[in-house]
Amino acid sequence: MGKIKVLPDQLCNQIAAGEVVERPAAVVKELVENSVDAASHRIRVLVHKGGRSLVRVVDDGEGMSPEDALLALERHATSKIASVQDLQNIRSMGFRGEALPSIAAVSRLEMITREKDAVFGVRILVEGGTIRTVDEVGCPPGTSVTVRDLFFNVPARRKFLRAVDTEAAHISDMFLRQALANPELSWQLVHQDRTVHDFPKAASLRDRAYQVFGATLAKSLFPVDFNTENVVIRGLVGPPELQRANARSLFLFVNKRPVKDALLTHAVLTAYDTLLPKGSYPFGILLLDVPPPLVDVNVHPTKREVRFRDPSLVLEMVRQALNEALASAMQASWARSFYVSSASLNPTGKSTAAREGQSALSSLPQADLHASKRVQPQPEPVQLTWLHRPMASPSDQELFGPSPPLNSSAVLGSSSLKILGQLACTYILLEAQDGLILIDQHAAHERICYERLRRTSSSSGSQRLAPPQVLDLPPVEGDALKRWLPDLQALGFEVEPLGGGSFVIHAMPSVLKPVDPGLLLRRLVEKTPAEDRTPRAELLEHLAHTAACHSSVRAGQRLQTEEIRHLLAELDALELSATCPHGRPLWWKITLDQIQRFFYRS
Ligand code: ADP
Ligand code: MG
Repeated sequence: MGKIKVLPDQLCNQIAAGEVVERPAAVVKELVENSVDAASHRIRVLVHKGGRSLVRVVDDGEGMSPEDALLALERHATSKIASVQDLQNIRSMGFRGEALPSIAAVSRLEMITREKDAVFGVRILVEGGTIRTVDEVGCPPGTSVTVRDLFFNVPARRKFLRAVDTEAAHISDMFLRQALANPELSWQLVHQDRTVHDFPKAASLRDRAYQVFGATLAKSLFPVDFNTENVVIRGLVGPPELQRANARSLFLFVNKRPVKDALLTHAVLTAYDTLLPKGSYPFGILLLDVPPPLVDVNVHPTKREVRFRDPSLVLEMVRQALNEALASAMQASWARSFYVSSASLNPTGKSTAAREGQSALSSLPQADLHASKRVQPQPEPVQLTWLHRPMASPSDQELFGPSPPLNSSAVLGSSSLKILGQLACTYILLEAQDGLILIDQHAAHERICYERLRRTSSSSGSQRLAPPQVLDLPPVEGDALKRWLPDLQALGFEVEPLGGGSFVIHAMPSVLKPVDPGLLLRRLVEKTPAEDRTPRAELLEHLAHTAACHSSVRAGQRLQTEEIRHLLAELDALELSATCPHGRPLWWKITLDQIQRFFYRS
């Protein structure tokens, strides 16, 4: 007698359930995705006790015939793929034919379904994987699946369920992600007879964001709209002020599938790099549309992770999409703050300034236009609390929006302005004719480094080290550095590999001189993911960033007036392009007019 046996189907289903049905939220996800695949317009989710006692998903989709409904409960029965080729071209959410039998194996499941043209529907009751009854019933077209007593027959799993509130929170999170991925559908979530979310069908992602996050937050989001031949990236991302301490406010989707993907998260973070403090995450909704053959969605039991055929390409595109979005968002908010100040200076709107403001506005996206229009020329009461919290809400943004990235030295002419002093060892305060200018000294210095590096080449601005410096790196980081070498050389570095992770640094760009070259390169490779193909612009950003972090002008550093003067002169000497790599503002002007309005003096 052999020892090996083929397991019965019911046991297979229970085992599969172990992977697919992690918790009630996973049931919601699977059922809801089936409803999306069934071309529903309206999806309702009802939950009791965080989904432990009941999850019901009701849709108005295409429904199933009685024969199909029975088949759907069989393992590996699906209407979504039929061949290996189909597997490479998946557009539907489901394709494994595993969810229904798995869920049915660990619960009491009731399925009621009717095709639109059928006279009757069918109701099937399954208990722990065994079909109990099959009846003809009268019911509306579409499908309703009710899952009661999850894990009633798997006590070990039942024990791992968390408190009702925790499970409910997971369900709500899952529900929101699905609702964001499908704005054109209407969604309702009811927990214990209380309507938690009710989103009528929305015309756009922005409208859905209004429903989900409320007007205040949604209004502050910038559009992302990036198209290449293959990849389309759309979405809404938040200003840096909306930062969070974890990635939970990053809603990432690949072909409408909610994913938690380290690569994509990394891509988003690199785009925001200098805009956000370490360890914080931006708010963002990002939908990637990738041709199915270029992405494998069949790598995770709940399909929460995906694998890209060319990860570095995707990384680069997300970065680029976000950089573009952030740069134009910063320009838009500049135009807006300009409009606010000029409109309020001259309520008739007839001054040249106001006209220019208007024309700058005309190129803004619709939503931003509305935001600007909402600002009245009359003084607005500013709440005192503004003083005590960081610039966060859009209304503050409208009143005191960040200034533009330095477009040209003529805009600021900072070195001719009176230096008032330094604030919190971080900001330089200058008196302008029409207000107060704050300069972020660290950001300014970083920009100076960046712009200078951009102009450096191996023939100009390289400085030899005497004696040369030896650099020892761990193997992975050594490999990363080797990939950078040609680019580093073009910038004026001369780095010789000695084998293993050892290198000798013979020369470095003189722009970076005050900073230890070994430390610079070490930090550089530490930030680079192992399999990354890094574009040159990113290398420059890394280097400038690192150099600025280790220079004497970093944030929190007291500066002598002479040092400030020097920094301003350097700033003015640069011809900065209108769009900087990050769109991060270097300076911020509070106009006298804004100050007067604050004190009710206008
Ligand atoms: P998959 O979604 O991977 O195909 P499932 O076990 O989730 O596997 O569902 C099996 C089949 O049942 C689906 O392929 C589909 O044909 C059918 N089905 C499931 N849910 C619905 C629904 N809400 N409306 C219509 N058909 C459904
Ligand atoms: Mg499915």
